[in-house]
Amino acid sequence: MLTFHVITLFPELISNYVETSIIGRGIKAGKLCVRTYNPRDFTTDSYRKVDDTPYGGGVGMVLKPEPFFAAYESIPRNADSPVLLMSPQGERFAHSSASKLSDSLEITILCGHYEGFDERIRTLATHEFSIGDYVLTGGELASLVIIDAVGRLVPGVVGKHLSVQTESFSDGLLEGPSYTKPVEFRGMQVPEVVRGGNHKAIAAWRRQEALRRTFERRPDLLETAELSDEDRRYIRFLSEQTS
Ligand code: SAM
Repeated sequence: MLTFHVITLFPELISNYVETSIIGRGIKAGKLCVRTYNPRDFTTDSYRKVDDTPYGGGVGMVLKPEPFFAAYESIPRNADSPVLLMSPQGERFAHSSASKLSDSLEITILCGHYEGFDERIRTLATHEFSIGDYVLTGGELASLVIIDAVGRLVPGVVGKHLSVQTESFSDGLLEGPSYTKPVEFRGMQVPEVVRGGNHKAIAAWRRQEALRRTFERRPDLLETAELSDEDRRYIRFLSEQTS
């Protein structure tokens, strides 16, 4: 089981999301566990103050170190487990990060808010992650992105584990198109090859479509994907077609 410990000023944002859909099923099945810790519960003053004005002046409020450290120190966690701090200044979170983290037994996540963390809170983290080049109001959405992306890679969370192994990024490529019934919809046909029962031909078609889609939308991924000689020949064919 993988346990997420989330330090957040808005625990209801986390619990509402994780109770639903596939992550919720993973929790019910005992494959995942998500616990929240609110720094406000660890304040010692009568105002339960979690933020204060920045030294040196400036706009906004900065998260105070004492309640974050106290919340962190209350967590019954393995000292070697990863601690992720959500930040627009962090390393960009990617499938490879999710894949590495999915082997963990415990992950602690620190969510910021307001103007962000007092710099000393950063010393708690083993990793700092950003989910993209934009600024969110708080780290809760970013932490949910990470819980979802990592959680679904834990065996037994997604019904058929094979499906997460064939999705976009898992083999370094984007996934090709998928179709379901009916065979024809508003003049658009399901390709003949996927309707037949020739599994070898279907696998070859899927590989070519994944290569085509990656070539068209994310050619940068082709630089690091594992490619066979046949894949390379097909990519050469695609580039000749476009030049
Ligand atoms: N003042 C900070 C800065 O300029 O870097 C931004 C603070 S932001 C308003 C508040 C919190 O939202 C951050 O501490 C972080 O936890 C979270 N956050 C905002 N954007 C994020 C992103 N792109 N990825 C991950 N977390 C983000």
